[in-house]
Amino acid sequence: ATHFKIEGLKAEIEGKEILKGINLEMKGGEIHAIMGPNGTGKSTLASALMGHPKYEVTDGSVTLNGEDVLDMAVDERARAGLFLAMQYPSEITGVTNSDFLRSAINARREEGQEISLIRFIRQLEAKMKELDMNPEFAHRYLNEGFSGGEKKRNEILQMMLIEPSIVVLDEIDSGLDIDALKIVASGVNAMRSDDRGFLIITHYQRLLNYVKPDFVHVMMQGRIVKSGGPELAERLEAEGYDWVKEELGIED
Ligand code: ADP
Ligand code: MG
Ligand code: MG
Repeated sequence: ATHFKIEGLKAEIEGKEILKGINLEMKGGEIHAIMGPNGTGKSTLASALMGHPKYEVTDGSVTLNGEDVLDMAVDERARAGLFLAMQYPSEITGVTNSDFLRSAINARREEGQEISLIRFIRQLEAKMKELDMNPEFAHRYLNEGFSGGEKKRNEILQMMLIEPSIVVLDEIDSGLDIDALKIVASGVNAMRSDDRGFLIITHYQRLLNYVKPDFVHVMMQGRIVKSGGPELAERLEAEGYDWVKEELGIED
């Protein structure tokens, strides 16, 4: 069974400490949401987990099924089953979406076990249909000229094809209209399984109406300061973050 554990994680950017000791434990089948005001380090957490070179981890540990994630290179993390949908997906000219997806799937497989072209195309077409994506997006350069919503949908397409065991979604809901939000949510829900855990980072409660989290964590100033169930997200939506600050005596 999937078991993901973050302990005392500290990370800095250009010498400035952003993550000040994050603890979080996730098991397969669970959906965790992280909410928090802008600039509290949510995206930094996602990037540090994926091994982005700009973020230097200075303390703590991250394990996936007992294996040391921080010791792995970026591609090894992906191979081990970590997946990150970034808040701002990059555009890559010269690499088509379809080529990118096929190599991402194969990167998760042993040599000699690569997906056949026919099988890949069949799966790609089926998933794109589920996400109500225009088939032409398969042949476009990765994210180039995609609208905000198209990029987000494309991240979900990647997730569906790669079948990771830990999925980190950083503001997958931002910039989506309600129809696109529902499609993205149904993509996530279709991927729920006992051996897959989700970490959904979001600024708003909206997505959580469609993807029901088991746990909600509030992040402030580089720490998880409060955890609870879905009712916590509803209260944050209604009342904002000030009451959490007051309750915990956090200064701005
Ligand atoms: P959130 O996702 O919660 O809005 P971020 O993780 O993006 O927050 O940012 C946390 C803090 O780190 C902010 O103060 C931000 O300005 C700073 N930061 C993030 N990325 C960089 C970077 N590449 N260079 C310098 N500072 C950064
Ligand atoms: Mg932000
Ligand atoms: Mg962010």
